[in-house]
Amino acid sequence: MAWRRPSHAHCPRCDQVRRLDVPSRGWVVTKWIWVVVTFGMAVWAMAISADALFLTPLALMVLFGGGFIFDRAAEPARCFYCRYPLEGEALEAAVSRAG
Ligand SMILES: [Zn+2]
Repeated sequence: MAWRRPSHAHCPRCDQVRRLDVPSRGWVVTKWIWVVVTFGMAVWAMAISADALFLTPLALMVLFGGGFIFDRAAEPARCFYCRYPLEGEALEAAVSRAG
């Protein structure tokens, strides 16, 4: 994956140079924060399970939110108009075709 993504690329579905809708990299940061918090919760599991009123529901909300966060972090760059995913080798080829 390229570190810096282009703003425009050739979309094969539209067959035109289109603006890219690049997802925020903040979701990748959030994903790793989630991993660290989850391991921290595993270490403090005994204290969390002792507080059934506040900490246990909070821990469950953090755990169940992981799927949403990982899904957003894996979202590819897409064509702004038709939502066609342009990522990896497809994005490299689309950008080289766009000139
Ligand atoms: Zn398109």
